[in-house]
Amino acid sequence: MKDWEKNVRTVVPYVPGEQPKEKNIMKLNTNENPYPPAPGVAEVLETFDADRLRLYPDPLAADLTDALADFYHVDRNQVFAGVGSDDVLAMIFLTFFNSRKPVLFPDITYSFYDVWAEMLRIPYEQIPLDHDFFIIPEDYKKENGGIIFPNPNAPTGRLMELSQIEEIIQANPGVMVVVDEAYIDFGGVSALPLVDRYDNVIVVQTFSKSRSMAGSRIGYAISNPCVIKYLNDVKYSFNSYTMDSVTIALGVAAVKDKEYFEKTVQKIIQTREWTKEQLRALGFLFADSQSNFIFARHPKVPGPQLFQALKEEKIFVRRFGKPERIADYLRITIGTDEQMQKLVKFLKTYLMEQET
Ligand SMILES: *Cc1c(COP(=O)(O)O)cnc(C)c1O
Repeated sequence: MKDWEKNVRTVVPYVPGEQPKEKNIMKLNTNENPYPPAPGVAEVLETFDADRLRLYPDPLAADLTDALADFYHVDRNQVFAGVGSDDVLAMIFLTFFNSRKPVLFPDITYSFYDVWAEMLRIPYEQIPLDHDFFIIPEDYKKENGGIIFPNPNAPTGRLMELSQIEEIIQANPGVMVVVDEAYIDFGGVSALPLVDRYDNVIVVQTFSKSRSMAGSRIGYAISNPCVIKYLNDVKYSFNSYTMDSVTIALGVAAVKDKEYFEKTVQKIIQTREWTKEQLRALGFLFADSQSNFIFARHPKVPGPQLFQALKEEKIFVRRFGKPERIADYLRITIGTDEQMQKLVKFLKTYLMEQET
């Protein structure tokens, strides 16, 4: 080891899902939306005046936070915009998780949480989900330096009742409770109303899934103005101009088209329910997902084997090797009806071949 290497901030990085370059693959591995963004987004791209790029963007992304404030009926100073919710969540870890006590999150959850905690030297404790992959609120009533969980949880798809979230918040008035709602639009009830009733709640959402804009990198947090002020102070001390002017305009166009948003989300919910029936009929086991993916295993085929068979068929899904109890599970993103039909057809044939 060289001397300077002793001073390196070594990290084990988060490993995102594969983005294969091949054409003609079915990409069901990173929970992207199969439908295009709202039509107004393409219009902005076609008409954006390149001359505007001479100027720095608005560090507050006020056009976007205003549009979001309108949409969610909150005040503009209750909204914080970031470059994907990954950026928003990282800023939240940096701003609010500064205790010597451990930050609590589930053992099976978004695998970025422990990476940020490690990188920022934040102590943390991973709380096991129960056997059916439910979060147990009771387990979050101990000394801690903050709490974060996705609702619905990823990669399980399990939705938590709002009353249970409230129970966790009530038991923890001394720390920040962060609800990562990356998938809430696919059938859950948002914790947003709790932001008015408790001063220690942050709701985080993203344009990457329900708004079909993973490539634009837009995420946001909604909380009370005091919390948003703390977040902006940290953000400005790190990098003030994070979201570019084009993205701000694209985001506004997407938020303004409520009808398109609701239509595509409904379509995905419909396809998901159809896919659940089909997978169940094929003998798959899974928690009842309220997101745009299904986390399933087949009792007769090991996870790695099924993952490989799908890949050879050019169907990409996501598999997490760890912890051991999810080793046989595959996380399958809900695509179009046609994609799901192809998937089910292949699985049917494949499982029949295994029987013989
Ligand atoms: C996808 C996802 C995110 C990150 O979304 P971006 O906005 O694309 O950064 C955050 N949390 C969870 C649970 C997710 O699944």
